Amino acid sequence: PQYVYRFGGGVSDGGKGDKNLLGGKGANLAEMASIGLPVPPGFTISTAMCARYYEEGEAFPDSLRAEVADGIAHIEGVTGKAFGDPANPLLVSVRSGARVSMPGMMDTVLNLGLNDQTVEGLATVSDDPRFAWDSYRRFIQMYADVVLGLDHDRFEEALEIAKEDRGYFLDTDLTAEDLKALVAEYKGLVEELWDKPFPQDVHDQLWGAVGAVFGSWQSERAKVYRRLNDIPGDWGTAVNVQAMVFGNMGDTSATGVAFTRDPSTGENGYYGEFLINAQGEDVVAGIRTPQYLTRAAREAAGAKPLSMEEAMPEVYAELAGVFDTLERHYRDMQDIEFTVERAKLWMLQTRSGKRTAKAALKIAVDMASEGLITEEQAVARVDPSALDQLLHPTLDPAAARDVLTKGLPASPGAASGKVVFDADTAEKMAAAGEDVILVRVETSPEDIHGMHAAKGILTARGGMTSHAAVVARGMGRPCVSGAGSLSIKGKDGVMRVGDREVQAGEVLTIDGSTGEVMLGAVSTVQPELAGDFGTLMGWADKVRRLKVRTNAETPADCRTAREFGAEGIGLCRTEHMFFDAGRITSVRQMILASDEAGRRAALDKLLPEQRADFAEIFAVMAGLPVTIRLLDPPLHEFLPHEDAEFEEVAKATGLEVEALKRRAGELHEFNPMLGHRGCRLGVTYPEIYEMQARAIFEAAVEVAESSGAAPVPEVMIPLVATAKELELMKAVVDKAAEAVFAEKGRRIEYLVGTMIELPRAALRAGEIAEVGEFFSFGTNDLTQTTLGVSRDDAARFLGVYVEKGIYARDPFVSIDIEGVGELVELAAERGRATRPDIKLGICGEHGGDPASIAFCEKVGLDYVSASPYRVPIARLAAAQAAL
Ligand code: PEP
Ligand code: MG
Repeated sequence: PQYVYRFGGGVSDGGKGDKNLLGGKGANLAEMASIGLPVPPGFTISTAMCARYYEEGEAFPDSLRAEVADGIAHIEGVTGKAFGDPANPLLVSVRSGARVSMPGMMDTVLNLGLNDQTVEGLATVSDDPRFAWDSYRRFIQMYADVVLGLDHDRFEEALEIAKEDRGYFLDTDLTAEDLKALVAEYKGLVEELWDKPFPQDVHDQLWGAVGAVFGSWQSERAKVYRRLNDIPGDWGTAVNVQAMVFGNMGDTSATGVAFTRDPSTGENGYYGEFLINAQGEDVVAGIRTPQYLTRAAREAAGAKPLSMEEAMPEVYAELAGVFDTLERHYRDMQDIEFTVERAKLWMLQTRSGKRTAKAALKIAVDMASEGLITEEQAVARVDPSALDQLLHPTLDPAAARDVLTKGLPASPGAASGKVVFDADTAEKMAAAGEDVILVRVETSPEDIHGMHAAKGILTARGGMTSHAAVVARGMGRPCVSGAGSLSIKGKDGVMRVGDREVQAGEVLTIDGSTGEVMLGAVSTVQPELAGDFGTLMGWADKVRRLKVRTNAETPADCRTAREFGAEGIGLCRTEHMFFDAGRITSVRQMILASDEAGRRAALDKLLPEQRADFAEIFAVMAGLPVTIRLLDPPLHEFLPHEDAEFEEVAKATGLEVEALKRRAGELHEFNPMLGHRGCRLGVTYPEIYEMQARAIFEAAVEVAESSGAAPVPEVMIPLVATAKELELMKAVVDKAAEAVFAEKGRRIEYLVGTMIELPRAALRAGEIAEVGEFFSFGTNDLTQTTLGVSRDDAARFLGVYVEKGIYARDPFVSIDIEGVGELVELAAERGRATRPDIKLGICGEHGGDPASIAFCEKVGLDYVSASPYRVPIARLAAAQAAL
């Protein structure tokens, strides 16, 4: 098999369709070369080699040697330089590149090909001995770290001492002679720490670096990143070997990163940062603060150092042309790395840029308007889960705020939490249920678990493309970066701004949209749902087939859900209404009553309260379908615990506290989830369901009369296993309906149906559909009962199950398609066989999960029901499922 693919100099062995084989970087380098953009020549060793490398016990097959030799010859041919040639040496970079970008997770080696001879050649050819020795110095330092795994700090220390000894402040103060001495010192360090001299053979250097890049695929941080981002471990990385171009050859050289549109807001304008006389990683590392790309951006920020547009107008114009070519070619916003070597532009990378949800929306909508993509493509472009970022509150502009300082608006959204200075503590505190803000001088890949656990991230150093900014945007965490006035002493648990001090544990608020950092918690407001959001949702609604309802029981939630586009209520859990302060005593009286008469006395008090609840919901939902589930949970959930609570019930009923306590004891269940709950309550105490049904119909008639929009109640019986149970309960509901209609002299339409949340119900769906007019899949309980996994105890072990690949994802979050899904499919089929027009929906948490929604589309359900904030996510996911 072929493992090496060349690009540059008029050759492209691959293209953008080859991401799986060449990784994103390699595929796009080949693509850029093939459309005539200036790409330094190079070659990609495919991801297939990565798998082979591990199969062979971290070694290379012999056949690869010849292929790599051909690849090097290709680069030599195009550049006219020779690898290891002391007169005109070819230097290469060796970089990783997986199918999807894993920013900063894997290794890179630059300036490879330098040794004691070639450094002299480079000095002559470049006419710049300082540059040559600085490159050699950087190369040894990077190689020692990445390939040899030697202690990075020792090299940093040697560099610091070299400056101190000479009274210098900046790296750039070091002369060629100084750097030559430092190189000698570095080589000594390598020998001391590695017991062998620094490799002088350039081919040894190359194979070492290639092995290190493949090796970095299995590094701890790469594994953590893959786990957090659902990236399979067997994809592997490719390795890109490419001729070096130098952004550090003086003032006509530069290096930078850019986006073809603003990745934070989606604004259509070039956006990026660059540094004059610097090498690649300097920009991302956040060590020097980069300069703006455009004059407009520099002026907006009130910054002094010239923008690239001003400092290098000709190269900038060429770069802008490349941006336009790339956007038209890829039809998406691109994230680009470039280098200018002595006024000549080189493209080092392009890929679809990571963006915030806000930017994703704006870019998709704008590009459709510009005619670059279709409306349907725009709908397909936005990740439904990312909408979450937009739907949550932002800082209330009217709220008082005590602004400590301001940094860069690196990732939008607002967050408050306790200050923590390290990732491990952030993770621990978050696991204990605390909101935390992770505060770091700058972040590195070692911090990602803490960034993930934190509500927000604040750094003192680094630009908009620093690690913190890029990773936070990807995760959807608010982030303020580069807050330069912060002095962070993490070890002492304190940070300072001017003369103000903030201790670890104090509450801080950050606004990732403005860069503001505030002391204390600041109140928030609901997001704006018009504009691009509304436009995209409109397009989504045109293509989706599934209806989207919501799970809600308070009028406020119902209103929120309607604003988000809910087309009805799929689940109103009536037990949530039983906990209200005013009525819990009546509920307890009902439960603790020893006979029907006692229960009825309590139910009479609850009836008007329930009726008022339902009337309010019907009014908000204005004629849309409302599914109301009759009481479901085990009764003991409502029992009093405190003596005072028992006394209150005693007062209301005239019964003795002791007798009530005895009765409470009798209600104890060993396994309440499988105990006296669901329709079993209605079967044993029909008067409860009778009262609830009466409340529903009285409210429905009342609202029909007062508003003119007749409600469409769908009365739902929970936890049914047999058709007989449903038959009995339907009789109770129908009887109550008839009684109310007779009393009021007005009928309204309604349905009686059931939840399918037990395997037996799914299997017997054919006969259950003879009674039930609709099914709603209660996939929370159906998952619990099908897997035999308690939904309340699963957290203790499911994490390990997912880690070990037993379940691909948490089956309570994303439906277990093979098991639970098969029951859903079968029940839908059997239900329809009996009653072709049966209404089918889902109201478990899965109703708001995009992958589960795709499954619901496939099975042909009529609607999904999700919690209010997930309604837009469900609308978009339903549209994508229909495309
Ligand atoms: C379900 O079981 O999926 C359901 C929606 O009901 P609950 O979560 O209230 O048990
Ligand atoms: Mg349930």
